[in-house]
Amino acid sequence: MDCLFCRIAEKKTPARIIYEDEACVAFEDIAPQAPVHVLVVPRRHIATTLELKEEDGPLIGHLFRVANRIAGDKQVAGRGFRLVMNTNAEAGQSVYHIHLHLLGGRRMHWPPG
Ligand code: 5GP
Ligand code: ZN
Repeated sequence: MDCLFCRIAEKKTPARIIYEDEACVAFEDIAPQAPVHVLVVPRRHIATTLELKEEDGPLIGHLFRVANRIAGDKQVAGRGFRLVMNTNAEAGQSVYHIHLHLLGGRRMHWPPG
């Protein structure tokens, strides 16, 4: 299996990694949609949110907590930011390894496009 985000997590493909630990990596999106656009990605390959199991709860919670910390570091926590995971084609998922988008630094639209 050849997966872009597995390769980034394994440092086989370069990315601007801003945080990493034993469970996840966070890096700058290559095509940012806002002044802050970071992807928080579990090291373990999970194709879509549909594959999540009950026991993955702590991992998902961890991704959100890492995103909160990065939002603070990037000075958008108080202003507001958006955390998004897209599932499957109609939602716009293009990389089939789950990733939490952290978007901030501008006013977000609602409903999302
Ligand atoms: P999705 O559309 O699956 O929700 O999000 C995939 C995201 O990955 C997109 O925002 C896209 O810009 C980003 N992306 C795609 N290829 C690369 C890459 O090679 N490096 C980085 N850093 N981001 C990527
Ligand atoms: Zn993967």
